[in-house]
Amino acid sequence: TDKSEIIGRFAPSPTGPLHLGSLVAALGSYLVAKNAGGQWLLRMEDLDLPRVVPGIADDMMATLEKLGLYWDGEVLYQSRRTDHYRAAAEELQRRGLAYACGCTRSEIAQIASAPHEEGLVYPGLCREGLPPEKVERALRVKVYDEVISFDDGIMGRYSQHLTASCGDFVIHRADGPYAYHLAVVVDDAASGVNQVVRGADLLASTPRQIYLQRIFDFPTPAYFHLPLVTGPDGAKLSKRDNAVSLAAGRDLEQEGGRLLFAALRFLGQSPLPELQGAAPAEILDWGVAHLDISAIPRTPAPFLYP
Ligand code: GLU
Repeated sequence: TDKSEIIGRFAPSPTGPLHLGSLVAALGSYLVAKNAGGQWLLRMEDLDLPRVVPGIADDMMATLEKLGLYWDGEVLYQSRRTDHYRAAAEELQRRGLAYACGCTRSEIAQIASAPHEEGLVYPGLCREGLPPEKVERALRVKVYDEVISFDDGIMGRYSQHLTASCGDFVIHRADGPYAYHLAVVVDDAASGVNQVVRGADLLASTPRQIYLQRIFDFPTPAYFHLPLVTGPDGAKLSKRDNAVSLAAGRDLEQEGGRLLFAALRFLGQSPLPELQGAAPAEILDWGVAHLDISAIPRTPAPFLYP
């Protein structure tokens, strides 16, 4: 394959029907990849099986197809890739970079320094060895006193000091799946993904992912974090306002084009008014050809849809 080819992806979690936020992430990642002449892959992040709703992955794919958002290649299912995550976690342990932790959430809450945006900062209690009275609850990767920075293609420069903002973080829970951060890094590298376009709710988790990429000697993709969708009043979207999928009863034959038009507007693009009633394929073609990344807003906003 051509080394310079752009490979982007959309990586939804099939825990609920496609919603406006995921529509924006799907369209945004599609446009940025296709505008660069690249491929756009689809990965189902169905690792957290108890939260996965049966049938949702298929419904998401049918919804994407109705919207003309056709992905390239085979769909990757994280639920089938546990061996790869296990191998990565074992490598970290072998290299002394990960350790077993026996702390419960409430134990951590009692001693953790102030919570940061992602939760509690783990104070490293089990770093020097699991205390004999404790059982292993999680595997944590060690972080060091360093600042990780990157230039986001939309949000600009972003920096995080890992020890101060999260501490040694979990890559596997004894009673649960491998952690999202580990899986996403392993999968993006395995698929040759070099462009990640996703919601800004993941901006703060990007430094942890870059940290893991560096440990594994994986290349770091280009990142683009899209503004979050809020409800009309700026608050969190309700489930009812939010659903886009076929399963939620949307008639995408009728509405698909209008939804995509509205999503383009949400992304700060200025589609020609005559595209308002056009079919999805025509709107996507326009979007790919005219994408202006610098027009994508940086702040959360409501999704204006008549
Ligand atoms: N599965 C994540 C989500 O649905 C997105 C992961 C990613 O794009 O890195 O929010």
